Amino acid sequence: MTTWFISDLHLEPSRPASIQQLFAFLQHINGEADALYILGDLFEFWVGDDYLDTPEGQAIAPLIQALRAVSDSGVPIYFMHGNRDFLLGERFATETGCTILPEQQVVDLYGTPTLLLHGDTLCTDDADYQKARAVFRNPKWIAQVLTWTIPQRIQRAQEMREVSKESTQHKSEEIMDVNQQSVEQVMRDAKVTRLIHGHTHRPAIHDFQLEGVDVQRIVLGDWYTQGSYLRVDETSGITLLTER
Ligand code: MN
Repeated sequence: MTTWFISDLHLEPSRPASIQQLFAFLQHINGEADALYILGDLFEFWVGDDYLDTPEGQAIAPLIQALRAVSDSGVPIYFMHGNRDFLLGERFATETGCTILPEQQVVDLYGTPTLLLHGDTLCTDDADYQKARAVFRNPKWIAQVLTWTIPQRIQRAQEMREVSKESTQHKSEEIMDVNQQSVEQVMRDAKVTRLIHGHTHRPAIHDFQLEGVDVQRIVLGDWYTQGSYLRVDETSGITLLTER
């Protein structure tokens, strides 16, 4: 059978084509897979599950139904938070039938111990980003933000996106990529021979050696410009797709 991975979909109403492509993809795997993993940044930003109660939030209903159809078909969906949708919570999980994973998860992928991450924690050369991340992922800060009105949260998310765009323009490609020492550290700590993550939008399969053992880091591309997904088949192996 087959396990599917997607990440960095960055869904938002202004990108209807990528939403339609997701519907087609979900229909394709419906009832036909061992599992679907969404490794973060499903949404361009998510301001809290109570957004679903707003008139604009109603637009998410078809997506929730499509995910629900997949989980109801017997294909478990696992969701990992990205840096854009870390406010996604249990209500979304219940309505879609998906399970929210912690920020690191080891799975046995047809006999290969595999570590799953969104990927942003590996970008340790970007000190400013890691500092900001520590604030945003603090449960106290999250609880505080969720007391704001939804328009306030949306405004803040948009401001943060602008700040991030502005700062990434001045950072080198190397700083924004993963740090190889951090990659090796998490793989050693988790005792895995394979790592799968997204976030950097640099799809690739990196083969290297760790303490004399052949290991592999698979990076998913994004969905909205690259249409990337990863398919791991029990018999035919790994397919990383980066074009439609
Ligand atoms: Mn990300």
